[in-house]
Amino acid sequence: MNQPAPDSTYIGRFAPSPTGPLHIGSLLTAVASYADAKAHGGQWLVRMEDLDPPREMAGAADRILETLQHFGLHWDGDVLYQSRRQARYQSTVQQLLDQGLAYYCTCSRAQIQARSGSNTYPGTCRGCSIPPLKPHAIRLQVKDADIHFEDALQGPLHCNLQQQGGDFVIQRKDHLYAYHLAVVLDDADQGITHIVRGSDLLESTFAHWHLQTVLSLPHPHYAHLPVIVNADGQKLSKQTHAEPIPLAAPAPYLMYCLQTLGQQPPATLNGASAHSILQWACEHWQLERVPPARYLPQQQIR
Ligand SMILES: [Zn+2]
Repeated sequence: MNQPAPDSTYIGRFAPSPTGPLHIGSLLTAVASYADAKAHGGQWLVRMEDLDPPREMAGAADRILETLQHFGLHWDGDVLYQSRRQARYQSTVQQLLDQGLAYYCTCSRAQIQARSGSNTYPGTCRGCSIPPLKPHAIRLQVKDADIHFEDALQGPLHCNLQQQGGDFVIQRKDHLYAYHLAVVLDDADQGITHIVRGSDLLESTFAHWHLQTVLSLPHPHYAHLPVIVNADGQKLSKQTHAEPIPLAAPAPYLMYCLQTLGQQPPATLNGASAHSILQWACEHWQLERVPPARYLPQQQIR
């Protein structure tokens, strides 16, 4: 057995978007981040990423929290809601503008495509420090240099943001704060040390790393899990009609998650309580057993 040593400084998190009820893909991330935190003797926080009201579904946030409770995934502390953190995001955007690290951009997607032949923003509006009258986004400058980090599951990774994506948006034209900005500030303010999340966010990590550097924030440890995809290879979501997890019988869903995460739970746990299965998971958790695949097809849950 290769159990991690207790680490009271470990703070992990699960950060769902309330765009729909929890499905098996998001439950997998919840279980993995919970077990990794608890196996380290750490805390597990929950944050509601309710940053984009038009995409959200009424009641979904409460339903997600209810499902977590029902599945024995009890979080530490209070749930943090991004919708209540606008002042923090606003002051950071202003700080980056004042420092000349961010700038106003009026370009449309079509203009960017036409200028660069790709979705990589060519830096057209760099230096624009006076708010234009036209609708505008705010972009953060990136560097023409490789960012390197070591992912606990995906290994060493690197990316040059200027060549892949270019200066990225931190506040959108519709005034909503960008996910990249919010997630980096929230992780820092919640003292998150370890991020265990889906591989669909792997590319975003480079933008987060850059923001952490620019804002002099610590870089958390990252582990990017396989993302469960449906028969068409699509990530499970409300848009791809992922089934909500029923509250009635947690055991098969938790067992499915642990098996998919390579943890080999014993058959004696079939039909056990959510509490017993999670207790086993935390006592036997080994991150290195998680398959390093970025995508895994969904199997039948029985
Ligand atoms: Zn522009």
